[in-house]
Amino acid sequence: MSIHLQPGDAGYDDNRKALNPALDPYPAEVVLAETTADVRAAVLSARRRGLAFAVQATGHGTHVAHDGALLLRTHRMASVLVDPDRRIAKVGPGARWGDVLAAAAPFGLAPLSGSSPDVGVTGYTVGGGLGWLARRHGLAADSVQRARIVTADGELVTADADRNADLFWAVRGGGGSFGVVTDLEFRLYPVSRVYAGAVTFGRERAAETLACYRRWIEQAPDELSTALLLTRDGRLVVKAMYSGDDLDRGRRLLAPLWQAAGPPLADTMQVVDYAGAAMGGTFARTFDQVRALSDDLVHALVNEPDTTVEIRHWGGRIARDTGAAAHRDAPLSVILDTVPSARVTDALARDGIGSSFLNFLPDPSRVETAFTPANWAALRRVKAAYDPGAFFSAGLAVPPAALQASA
Ligand SMILES: Cc1cc2nc3c(=O)[nH]c(=O)nc-3n(C[C@H](O)[C@H](O)[C@H](O)COP(=O)(O)OP(=O)(O)OC[C@H]3O[C@@H](n4cnc5c(N)ncnc54)[C@H](O)[C@@H]3O)c2cc1C
Repeated sequence: MSIHLQPGDAGYDDNRKALNPALDPYPAEVVLAETTADVRAAVLSARRRGLAFAVQATGHGTHVAHDGALLLRTHRMASVLVDPDRRIAKVGPGARWGDVLAAAAPFGLAPLSGSSPDVGVTGYTVGGGLGWLARRHGLAADSVQRARIVTADGELVTADADRNADLFWAVRGGGGSFGVVTDLEFRLYPVSRVYAGAVTFGRERAAETLACYRRWIEQAPDELSTALLLTRDGRLVVKAMYSGDDLDRGRRLLAPLWQAAGPPLADTMQVVDYAGAAMGGTFARTFDQVRALSDDLVHALVNEPDTTVEIRHWGGRIARDTGAAAHRDAPLSVILDTVPSARVTDALARDGIGSSFLNFLPDPSRVETAFTPANWAALRRVKAAYDPGAFFSAGLAVPPAALQASA
């Protein structure tokens, strides 16, 4: 049975908020769902009453205040089932990555989770899902096998390669615009021990290290994922995860980067369980992908004050897969946790492709930049087919394609 909370009810305040403390939403009603039937009832109730609708599992990806809406909370639907023979996990919409990591690890299996075990599996996956195994096994969205979805008319549909294939394509990366996902089935991979962590250096040789990095990535195998950080406290940090079988090979492959960076100040690289590797992330106030790191961009980034910059290696399986999510042909992303100076802005305008990644995008007005033009147009057509009235329009929404005027 779902619980319905209105302003003034005990529990309303605890359940109305997102993670971002700057948001202080006052939904008309908060519904705590327990079953798929509760989800359908909530969608139909919002429609009947003309309320805006929003769904939230953990609040990690909520970027707007859902004032006056019906806010559906799914955190009580957190079931996780692992089928070790088929290497599949099936989860409810409230499951977090930590739940899946714990359920899969005893079988020597891993999901394509991201930097935090607290993030919701469904929100992360429908937004693309870029984790530390992505170069080897792809974006999480591309590993989805089947989803069950409550659509805007309150119907429960199955979406997979054979049924509602257009919806299946859209929900794997197009975000939460196409319905409420009530079950998600996705592949697991035989990864248990990894060589992972970070090595910290001073900033003296940052420019040389970035110049080395742009050549080095061309030979990095898919089992190796890296990010270089220039931190606001004056450090250069190389984060890495190697998931190949010969874990010593990871150390050998990384050695040229470490040599370029100079003497290390700290080194947390070690062989650990994948489930326990704490890789962290950088808040992406500014994001773009670049085809190359020009000298000019390197110089601008290295000299940017009071900012943390993260340069991350994409490519590998991400680039070989096709799917709705992301721009896949640029090998590097550049993230800054601030609004950049004119110099960095100009350099990024020259080297960048003007993209975003849905899961790292805090700005609902820029959703289009998370997709290629062809995928954006296709997503809008699927939206028009399944939700022409844009009932699911909260947050990072895809608008329906305009209806063709009939002749
Ligand atoms: C600390 C932190 C670390 C992160 N690390 C990574 C990372 O490594 N890689 C990465 O790709 N992303 C990462 N993210 C981004 C994260 O994946 C997105 O913010 C994601 O939307 C969070 O989903 P959620 O369910 O936890 O959040 P919520 O705020 O509960 O939901 C966010 C959105 O997800 C959609 N959604 C949620 N549930 C459903 C559902 N049942 N059906 C349909 N749509 C739904 C809705 O659009 C909703 O607005 C990180 C975010 C944080 C805060």
